Amino acid sequence: MQICNNIDTNEQGVLTFTGYSTVELAEKYGTPLYLMDENKIREKMRTYKNAMEKYFGNGAAPIYASKAASFKRIYQIAAEENIGIDVVSAGEIYTALAAGYDISRAFFHGNNKTEDEIAFAIKNGIGYFVADSQSELEAINLEAKKQGKVQKILLRITPGIDTHTNKKIATGNVDSKFGMAIATGQAHDFVGMALEYDSLKLCGYHCHVGSQVFDAETFIDAVDIMMDFTLEIKEKYSFEPEILNLGGGFGVRYVASHPELDIENSIREVGEVLDAKCRELGVKKPRIMMEPGRSVVADAGMTLYTVGTVKQITKFKNYVAIDGGMTDNPRFALYDAEYTVINAKKATLPKNYRCTIVGKCCESGDIIQEDVHIAPPQKGDIIAVLTTGAYNYSMASNYNRIPKPPVVMLSDKGDYVAVKRETYEDIIRNDV
Ligand SMILES: *Cc1c(COP(=O)(O)O)cnc(C)c1O
Repeated sequence: MQICNNIDTNEQGVLTFTGYSTVELAEKYGTPLYLMDENKIREKMRTYKNAMEKYFGNGAAPIYASKAASFKRIYQIAAEENIGIDVVSAGEIYTALAAGYDISRAFFHGNNKTEDEIAFAIKNGIGYFVADSQSELEAINLEAKKQGKVQKILLRITPGIDTHTNKKIATGNVDSKFGMAIATGQAHDFVGMALEYDSLKLCGYHCHVGSQVFDAETFIDAVDIMMDFTLEIKEKYSFEPEILNLGGGFGVRYVASHPELDIENSIREVGEVLDAKCRELGVKKPRIMMEPGRSVVADAGMTLYTVGTVKQITKFKNYVAIDGGMTDNPRFALYDAEYTVINAKKATLPKNYRCTIVGKCCESGDIIQEDVHIAPPQKGDIIAVLTTGAYNYSMASNYNRIPKPPVVMLSDKGDYVAVKRETYEDIIRNDV
């Protein structure tokens, strides 16, 4: 069983990705190579859009959390799919603008936006700021006033949900660098302050409860807490939010043991609770937004590498070294992220070789995956790491002066380069 329906094998026993032979793609573009399945990205965006319109109604819409994979072509696809975006830096805003994306549909996140970033965003007509703190309200207000504008904002509120236990723990996620907590009373004051500034227009609330969430329960808890908060604020300040943004975090199946999330059904469950809650409290139903990142792009991605050294440390492990590593995928090094690994030329052979897949950086922690089982590899084989569409290219670095791999899109119309392979000239571009 494959972990996603865009993964298969052909008659030669070669791994295919959305119908393309991975071995042929590796020959054509070289390795390391990021691949992205354009249809899968579009399919996921539509799944969210349709389900949210159907079950939340009232102008509900997904916003693509573009930090998961940020390059010009992704913003064009979002525009073509008529989907909003969230951005977390001026660099992402700049990329979206360069792609021709209308950033009046963008939400600007981050816990420490600089004054330059605030000025840049307002000057270019950003849709919304998601304000993270009181000092940020002050800074956005000051800049908006300077530019003669009234800036729309949401407030980042911390509902205090522990996503791992699904319990509403008052101190759970309260201690976070993001947002202002309901449990401490600070979120209430935050709203009061936001309403005072004359160059800010408060449009609603945002909360982000975590990542790799596989059930509707966490979002239902968030709706519950946020709607109670909405009522308290309505009573205290006579303010009702136009928008309630529930954040991102829907889970992704990286390995076969992970469940497959039913996005539509989860949204339906959340929608039912929301309707009931609004009726119970007698508050207006806000326009619901969600910000999926990884669940839009993760399984639309795959990385291909070429095997170099295969080494057995007697009585210990087998090490299979590939021509990339933590520079193009730092997620195992950062947080032991799980991945499915396949020997692409021998995808139908028994997976009976236990090994650790390591990169080429001078760093022992440069590991892609530990203790995986693949068909016995030899030098020149192609190693495919699945589900790398999120937080791989966007987290890549030039450590050891290694150029970043290209991003090749696979679509109905053929394969094409969305991001070119970096050259050594690119590496020294800013060296004076
Ligand atoms: C990272 C992030 C997201 C996306 O999270 P995923 O796990 O990729 O879906 C959405 N909203 C905010 C505010 C985030 O920081």
